[in-house]
Amino acid sequence: MKIKNILILIFVFFLYFITGKIGLYFATVHPSATAIWAPTGIAIGSLLVFGRKALPAIFLGAFLTNFTTSGTALSSIGIALGNTFEGFIAAHLIEMFADGRRALNTPRGILKFIIIILFSCMISATWGVSTLLLSGLADGDKTASIWFTWWLGDISGGIIVAPFFLFWTKKYLYHWNNDRRLEGVTLLLAIVIVSGAIFNGIFLKLPLFLSLEFLIIPLLVWASLRFDRREVITAIVIVAAVSTWGTVRGYGPFSRYKMEESLILLQTFFDVVTIMILALSAVVAERKRVQRLFRSTLDNMREGFQIIGFDYKYIYVNNAVAVQGKKKQEDLLGKSMMEMYPGIENTPMFTYLRKCMLERIPHEMDNKFQYPDGSQRWFRLKIEPIAEGALILSIDITREKEIDDMKTEFISMASHELRTPLSAIKGFISMLIEGDYGKVDKKFARPLALVSESTNRLIKIVNEMLDVSRIEAERVMVHVDTYQLDPLISEVVSNLKPLVDEKNLKLSVEKDSSLQISADKEKVIQILTNLIGNAIKFTEKGSIGINAKLIKNMVVVYVSDTGRGIAQSDKEKLFNKFEQLKSKKEGKVAGTGLGLYISREFARKMKGDLWIEKSTGGKGSTFALSLPAVLSKNKLL
Ligand code: ADP
Repeated sequence: MKIKNILILIFVFFLYFITGKIGLYFATVHPSATAIWAPTGIAIGSLLVFGRKALPAIFLGAFLTNFTTSGTALSSIGIALGNTFEGFIAAHLIEMFADGRRALNTPRGILKFIIIILFSCMISATWGVSTLLLSGLADGDKTASIWFTWWLGDISGGIIVAPFFLFWTKKYLYHWNNDRRLEGVTLLLAIVIVSGAIFNGIFLKLPLFLSLEFLIIPLLVWASLRFDRREVITAIVIVAAVSTWGTVRGYGPFSRYKMEESLILLQTFFDVVTIMILALSAVVAERKRVQRLFRSTLDNMREGFQIIGFDYKYIYVNNAVAVQGKKKQEDLLGKSMMEMYPGIENTPMFTYLRKCMLERIPHEMDNKFQYPDGSQRWFRLKIEPIAEGALILSIDITREKEIDDMKTEFISMASHELRTPLSAIKGFISMLIEGDYGKVDKKFARPLALVSESTNRLIKIVNEMLDVSRIEAERVMVHVDTYQLDPLISEVVSNLKPLVDEKNLKLSVEKDSSLQISADKEKVIQILTNLIGNAIKFTEKGSIGINAKLIKNMVVVYVSDTGRGIAQSDKEKLFNKFEQLKSKKEGKVAGTGLGLYISREFARKMKGDLWIEKSTGGKGSTFALSLPAVLSKNKLL
């Protein structure tokens, strides 16, 4: 640690001393005031990077630079104090207001950085000129021009050299491949040749009156768009060095009769160009940073994220897509989906994707993806239209599906196993009640009736669970035949009649013997039992009506009641599995909430449907069941 600090101090001292000597070599207005003063930048940069411990090295460097030039110890100490103080104040203010070392990361930070430099360089100029005046080393009437030269020289050091120092001491993130190296060398050559020709009269002798200095700007813009800021600032320093050298030799668009004038013009030009280019490269760097963040976020997501072009080519895929699709990211990019997964164009998923591309319709679906090797996995997909084509988000839900299948399997097995003993219980109880084992004592009549009722409920639940597991496993069988509707309704009604009477409800059935349906009888009875059963269950007083009519080629059966009704917002929910609406008054009602779900699935299996025709909270509801009609010849005649 100690040794490292000493090495840092030595490094800063030498850098300061050498650049200082070079600077004073060009001093024209006064041996101590020069238009080229890189040490300001070295002082600010090293204070920002290494902290206060760089102060002694800066002071010593400044003192020796001046002492070896002017030879007077006292004024050299004075000037060195001013130089050190300038750097200290600048670094301090940058830390306070402009985010310290990170000042150059944003255009806003750059603006603050520059304002602080402009201000703090006044300190050194004022202090230095005062020292010269006090020690009698400067002419009174030249004060203004010495001050101005001093100030400008320091500013250029702050604006060009401090960023150079900061970017070269920063961690460097980029890897150069061959293309990048080639581009870098080309850019470097272009910069050296163009700045050599324009400012230095080498490579190409341009006439002096040609003010082509602006030609350097596109090259620096190139650097800032394509390279990191370390390269950009290096390019600026190279151009500044080449042009200063040329201008001092009397070449280039800035050379004037007086050397100090030439250098001031040159410096101002470069200060302005540097500020613009630094701001531009800060914006570019910021954009790259956001891109990197975006990319790494996308690549670390579990969810697949892909952008597909209108030509079905992969524009972007994140890591998860590559893993899900068992391909490499770079292999997918630029290829079409059909090339990568032949046959994909015939899948339902592709149909929705095409719809999304052409009609701009988003879609969500669970999709079974078949790999070329025959294996398959389930994905939940979200397809969204975007400007480039479509965006597909995908999550692997294979495990979820497996668990779901296991659950279905379990329910199916459990209900099967329960059915046999339940049937036995039901059978024996009814035999008991009916007196097959001798007359039953009166006091057992009620408990037996309750046991019988509970058993029936249990059987209903088990049957419903079995139905659900069949629906989910897509194992529902329908045996379709032609039936007259009336007898089916009558059968259900007579089964439920005791319940209607128990609640004192009115029941009216409109008969129409002409209606014939093509359906599975058992399933129709089950659906009607559910609908009429619900109507009875959820109606306290009033009536229940059943009627049917032919609409186009469907027979629609309406079951209406004057019960509690269903709120608008609950209408679709009712058809979900296990959905029961709780009314505040009644609390929990008997049932599983599976009835309507099963009924609708069965109706659809028979090419019909089930829906709520109308319902108003508190005023009753009407459910409608449609089934394919069989148009008898009689009717046609
Ligand atoms: P359950 O077997 O529990 O009755 P269903 O799927 O048949 O299950 O019904 C689901 C829910 O729909 C019921 O709990 C009830 O809240 C509501 N519902 C069904 N039919 C009616 C109706 N005729 N009037 C009012 N609410 C009803």
